[in-house]
Parts: sequence; C-alpha cells; structure tokens
Amino acid sequence: MTTTSFVELPAGALRMPVSRTNDLVLDVADPASPWRRRDLAISGLLLGAGLVGIFACWFTGSGELTYTDQVPWLVNSVLCGVVSVLGLVYWLVRGFRQVNLMQRDVQRWLVPWVTEQHAALRTGDAVPISAGTLVSAPTMTRVHHAHCPMVRGKSGVAAVTEDEIRERGLTQCGACHRG
Ligand SMILES: [Zn+2]
Repeated sequence: MTTTSFVELPAGALRMPVSRTNDLVLDVADPASPWRRRDLAISGLLLGAGLVGIFACWFTGSGELTYTDQVPWLVNSVLCGVVSVLGLVYWLVRGFRQVNLMQRDVQRWLVPWVTEQHAALRTGDAVPISAGTLVSAPTMTRVHHAHCPMVRGKSGVAAVTEDEIRERGLTQCGACHRG
C-alpha cells in the first residue's frame, strides 16, 4: 500500500515577494533557462566574431604565397580562437551565477514554510507519548500510532483508549498500521 502525502504551502509564502535587491534574479527570458538575453547576446557575439575571424584569417592567409607571410594570419586566427573560447566561458559563468541567485531566492521564498514545518515537528516531538500508544484527535476518523507522521504537529492529538476507539468507530490508519 502506498500513501501519498500532500505538502501545503503556508499562505504567507505565496504572498512573499521575490527579492528584488539584485536585478539579475529571475530576470530571464525563459524561466527554464538561466541565461538573460543580454548574456546570450554577448557570448553569442564573442563566439560568432571569433569564428568569423578564424575563417577570415584562413581565407586571407591561404592567399599568401610564402610561409613568412602566412604566419601573421595564423597568429591572428589563434587570437580569434581565444575570443571564441572567451564567449563560451562567459556563457558558462553567467549561467552558473544566475542559477546560484535563483536558488538563493527560492530558499528565501520557502523560509516561512520551512519555519512552520520545523515548528510543527518540534511541537510534535514535545508531546510526551510513548511508542505503542494509539492516538487520535477529535476531528480525525482514524487512529494512529504515536510516531505516525500523519499526526505529527497536528493540534488536538491525544492518546485514546480501546473503548474510545470502539465508541467513536475510529478506523486504523493505513500508513502506521501496516504489517
Ligand atoms: Zn497513522
């Protein structure tokens, strides 16, 4: 048997504005890609200029008759190659930087939710119920073992007796009554 757990975001998290302290953050053309249009344009220009330069050097250099005349064009094409590589490096660096910034913003966005969940876990642990005890709450229709994650942090959870379970017609939780 599989159990599906749903995670509810606190209302505060959805209202929380995304940080605008850095203009790079989430300022991308396509949310699935971390590159801004300007970054793509710059790396594309560097790469393109380098490749065009290499071609131009090859074309001009091959027209020279002697080796001595060809050497300067060879050197130039190497320099153009460096420009192309710089374009690719720039592309990588900007991408990684943007991913880091977006990651930081998502973490910040989740803070209220994480805090709430953490507080709920601590409250749940603070309830002094020994293992093996069956628990439920007035609003629940099922009975759980005290360690069950379904009752963790829920309000009104208290130990119930066999009589109470029969009286209220509580059924066993599928998650913690396995096996
Ligand atoms: Zn349970």
